[in-house]
Amino acid sequence: MDDIISLLPDHVANQIAAGEVIQRPASVVKELLENAIDAKASEIQLLVNGAGKTNIQVIDNGIGMSINDVRLAFERHATSKIKSADDLFSITSKGFRGEALASIAAISHVQVYTKREVDEMATCLKISGSEVQGQEVSVAPKGTSIAVKNLFYNVPARRNFLKSDKVELRHIIDEFHRVALIHPEVKLTFMNNGSELFELPAVNYRKRIANIFGNKIEEKLIPVEEMTTLAGIEGFIVKPEFAKKSRGQQFFFVNKRYIKSPFLNHAVNSAFQGMLRDQFHPGYFIFIQIDPKTIDINIHPTKTEVKFEEEQNLYAIIKSMVRHSLGMFQATPVLDFERDPSLDIPYGLQQNPPSNLPSVEMDSSFNPFNNHEKGIIKASKNNWESLYSGLEIKNEPDKRDEELKLAFDETPKVFQLLRKFIVTTIRSGLLVIDQQRAHQRVLYEKLLTSITKRDMVSQQLIFPMEIELTNQQIALFGELEANLNAMGFLVKLQDNNLLISGIPAFCNDKQLGQLFEDIFSLIDDHEQVESFSQSDYIAKILSKSLSIKANMTLTVEEQQALVDDLFACKDTLTCPFNRKIFITLDKEELEKKLD
Ligand code: ADP
Ligand code: MG
Repeated sequence: MDDIISLLPDHVANQIAAGEVIQRPASVVKELLENAIDAKASEIQLLVNGAGKTNIQVIDNGIGMSINDVRLAFERHATSKIKSADDLFSITSKGFRGEALASIAAISHVQVYTKREVDEMATCLKISGSEVQGQEVSVAPKGTSIAVKNLFYNVPARRNFLKSDKVELRHIIDEFHRVALIHPEVKLTFMNNGSELFELPAVNYRKRIANIFGNKIEEKLIPVEEMTTLAGIEGFIVKPEFAKKSRGQQFFFVNKRYIKSPFLNHAVNSAFQGMLRDQFHPGYFIFIQIDPKTIDINIHPTKTEVKFEEEQNLYAIIKSMVRHSLGMFQATPVLDFERDPSLDIPYGLQQNPPSNLPSVEMDSSFNPFNNHEKGIIKASKNNWESLYSGLEIKNEPDKRDEELKLAFDETPKVFQLLRKFIVTTIRSGLLVIDQQRAHQRVLYEKLLTSITKRDMVSQQLIFPMEIELTNQQIALFGELEANLNAMGFLVKLQDNNLLISGIPAFCNDKQLGQLFEDIFSLIDDHEQVESFSQSDYIAKILSKSLSIKANMTLTVEEQQALVDDLFACKDTLTCPFNRKIFITLDKEELEKKLD
């Protein structure tokens, strides 16, 4: 019997590989644009005809290729971007698989012009269906121009599978947006069937977003930023009242690469919770820089999905970052818990507020910074103000202002009720805060910050304390040690004992025994606390153990400090265990009750 196995010829292998990398004209656009960026171009032109089915050309002013390199570039697994598998863990370029050009050339007619700075003449290479048709010396400016014609000419099944020109062009525009958004420093133009679709000068992120989505978007953007040891994050969210029914303005970039992440999208959505009408989606442009060693971008041929090592932490950071910015920049959460906790007050109803829109306004005399000017409360570092500013009723602000100021001027600012609640006045009525939950929130955020920033101050104990541990607790301690240290606990194991020689500055030594008991028992309960959520988990336990409890009497200063601290938090609405921290009682409700 004859042998039946044979190696596929290269052009067939390339065609098969092409099926993975090149699904439609937009895939070609993506690959060519990314190659131009990788080649350090400062100017890139994209020319498209027939929705990319007849012609896609990308012209860049980048580093170009040598006569030999341009031949190699179209071989499979030919790349200048990584040399060994180890390099996969520190990728900074867009491409690295060395498959794109080989795939494209397998299923189209390609013509390349390229010239390096050092070369006198350019080279021109023609390839069709993986076969080199010719290479010759030519004249061209520095950089590379690649034209891809008649895509899928030799794969009719694929070609028939393509959608209408309108749909394919939409895909191309999407890819163009993604590259353009993350590279505002590169000048980009896009000609479609001979007419200009985009002309994007080199600018910053904010202006680039405006140049793509229209200048009006600029005033709708709220900046977000968070620098942690895990990742550096910056970007913009779109004010909730301008949320859209489509998801067209949702962009995550990781190390300058566009990614889709339902998980991180969920983080943003949950930060927007209570601020969007049903079926509306938040807009965001979030740029994440993270150590490439902690991510895996090699799990999908088109590389739009990424796996994060510390996915849970990233989730928490993004959520709190967005929530913080929403609070700072007058986007206001729904405060009216009493009416209906599940009621989401639509934001876009501003011009014409329904009569039952909750009106919560700050008692301006409360403002510790006293920078309240007639009807406008400026965002300052204290969220206390910004939390409320967005909900001011615009119809008759001045009159209300005057009346309420008079009514409240001489009243006490805070008092404690039933040794459980802190009550304070706001312009529209009362704010009742659960003291324990408020303090838990304050402590929790403090602890988490110190874990991420590693800047906690410890106080040395005069008499170090020893706690005897079980074997299981000793094993647990090994996992907890680093986080405990980061929080300001000076702890170590000595034989079978836990030796505590220092504690966080805000903790007091009388609480210690109980505290460690809580930590260990709760963690025992939980059996296995995954390391990614461990810091969050410890911060929760500690905030619970260390917080002010019900039945504790607080001085006026302590009450005031607690209120201030609470409204300096990123999330002021719920305690770490997801219970609401305060309720408001406004004039209307009081009147109704007195009816
Ligand atoms: P990859 O980008 O994964 O390396 P490609 O098939 O896209 O694989 O490109 C192969 C190689 O061709 C690149 O590594 C690069 O060296 C070279 N190349 C491709 N496009 C350009 C360009 N526009 N300018 C300069 N070099 C390029
Ligand atoms: Mg590439």
